Amino acid sequence: MLAGLFALTGCGVAVEDTPEIPDAVAEVTEEPENTISPAGPTEDFYRYINEETLRNMEFGYGDMSVGSFNEDLAGDQVKDIIRTVAAGSGYAPGSEEAIIKTAYDLYLDYDFDNAPVPAELDALLYEIDGISSMEEFFRVDAKLDRDYGVTNILYLQVGSDYRNGGANALAFGQYSGVLDVAFEDLEESYTPLNSLKRAGSVMRKALGHEKAEADALGKDLGLLAMDLYTATDMVVVMHDMFYEFQETVTKQEADEILSNVDLDTYLTDLGYDLKDCGKLTFVDRGQLAGLNALLTEEHLEALKTWKLCQFGTSYRRFIAGRYPGLDEYLQIDYRDPEEQAADEVMTGFYEETDPLYVEQYYNAAMDERLIAMCDEIREGYRGLIKNADWLSSKTREGLLTKLENIVYVTGMDLQRHDNAAYKDLTGSDYFAYQLHYKRLKNAMARASLAEAPDRKVPTMPMQMVNACYNPAFNHINITVAIMIPPFFSMEADEYTNLGGLGMVIAHEMGHAFDSNCIKFDANGIYDPSWIPEEDRAVLEERNRKAVKYFEDFFTVFGVYHVDGEQTLGENYADLGGMECVSSLARTKEQRERLFENYARIWCEKRVDEALLDQLNTDEHSPSVIRTNAILSTLDAFYETYDVKEGDGMYIAPENRISRWK
Ligand SMILES: [Zn+2]
Repeated sequence: MLAGLFALTGCGVAVEDTPEIPDAVAEVTEEPENTISPAGPTEDFYRYINEETLRNMEFGYGDMSVGSFNEDLAGDQVKDIIRTVAAGSGYAPGSEEAIIKTAYDLYLDYDFDNAPVPAELDALLYEIDGISSMEEFFRVDAKLDRDYGVTNILYLQVGSDYRNGGANALAFGQYSGVLDVAFEDLEESYTPLNSLKRAGSVMRKALGHEKAEADALGKDLGLLAMDLYTATDMVVVMHDMFYEFQETVTKQEADEILSNVDLDTYLTDLGYDLKDCGKLTFVDRGQLAGLNALLTEEHLEALKTWKLCQFGTSYRRFIAGRYPGLDEYLQIDYRDPEEQAADEVMTGFYEETDPLYVEQYYNAAMDERLIAMCDEIREGYRGLIKNADWLSSKTREGLLTKLENIVYVTGMDLQRHDNAAYKDLTGSDYFAYQLHYKRLKNAMARASLAEAPDRKVPTMPMQMVNACYNPAFNHINITVAIMIPPFFSMEADEYTNLGGLGMVIAHEMGHAFDSNCIKFDANGIYDPSWIPEEDRAVLEERNRKAVKYFEDFFTVFGVYHVDGEQTLGENYADLGGMECVSSLARTKEQRERLFENYARIWCEKRVDEALLDQLNTDEHSPSVIRTNAILSTLDAFYETYDVKEGDGMYIAPENRISRWK
């Protein structure tokens, strides 16, 4: 559900480059504080604030980045809750606590090293291996999705129809890869393709196929992946905002595209009520047609190998070690069992831990501060939009209505579930229990297809450090986990909080008016024409200048430029957000605290490879640019620090941009 929302960061973590920080020098010199002269605020504001912290930041083992968007604290807090709940007793049947305790205890009781493979899994693996017709394949595939939570071959799930007010709709997802091999990586080398072939071969061999035969079957899976990749629109894959490409089709049109599928039977087998399936959405017609071409007897064996790997990976913990050759491929977890159990419950049952997390780490006083901050920011935007006289008054009125319609979703909006729906949840062991839970959740998701979406329901886990804007709902989600320093503290002054969480909120609110989301009208309906022609022309012209600004004046490593088009929506959200929050500060000192904390929340390191990857694929600019490029174009920043021509942060007035002025 998270993809396509305008999350603050691409992936829940964010980032930075560190090339000029000479760690080694600092360590061997007698007076480390003198070896690197900190940049002044007018030279490089990002480094001026973060130099010291960056120098001392260390990557966790295997991490590609380290920074403020750190899930470790929230993760530890959630695991503490799980352990406390597990140590207690007497919980109401069907309650969150009862589910957490049962899952945790059953997980610890399960002898992953010695228990035989559950008979059900064993039978299913051989059932898939023995499929002899496409008809049978679709039937088994639907069953694996419905009863075992293994995503179906058509990648169908309940999603949002972004062009129709976010209504629940049956949505074809777009494959961005096959198994854990991303199409993007197939563009660069054969190594990922070979690992895919090997995975297929290992799986088939484990089920008794001869080596030569298994290798041939693995190779077929590789060829199938290449075919699917060839049919894929990589522009859509690389684009976070998939609604831009979303199309709605009738059931009849979907039948025509998927000529090799008996869609009625398949949807029914998946557990959907056909009367709810009148409209379907997709984002990549070419891939869907390409997939259809692969759904034939000729490719049956490759499809089976794909399914086997997918299924085997999903249930790896119950299978690993019991089939010859699978122990390595299926990655056994060697950590302390209690640590594994807490981790398992935190990820597999996060909907149960989430309300408990909110109850423990959120309260009415925090919510009051948060809502007041949101209202203040909304007031800031009111002023900016009213004064934007380069837009027609009709457009300004529309934008103001859109602003007033924005809904805040906070920890207070997360409700505990209805215990009655879970009171019969049982299982003789952990395998049976998690399966029963999965089936309950699946059935609820399918039933939601017939329901109207609720704008006040959180679309992000509250235990995740992030925030997002949903253009179809015109709402912003602020999680509980992000309400920690440096973003927010009940003890911090108003302007420090405004530079942190305030900027996060203003960024998300700013998405309502960014170059992409502005195409949704005041009611969240996708309709680019709601902005009059002459205003669209002005906006286009300003877009061009903004693209140039970010591309021309800022680099990473002194060499790499951001893709101004790719990052425009996010850059605009940052720029508008900063214009908004800085307009709320009256004095130099207030502005200083605000700018300082803004730079602090973006203090992050990324390994070079991850940073270059970000430049290629992420809608978000690297954090040094998110900080310096935004401040370098802000009049209030020039006033506050007296930036002059020749300073690192100086940009000639004719080249500066503004979102609202
Ligand atoms: Zn954003």
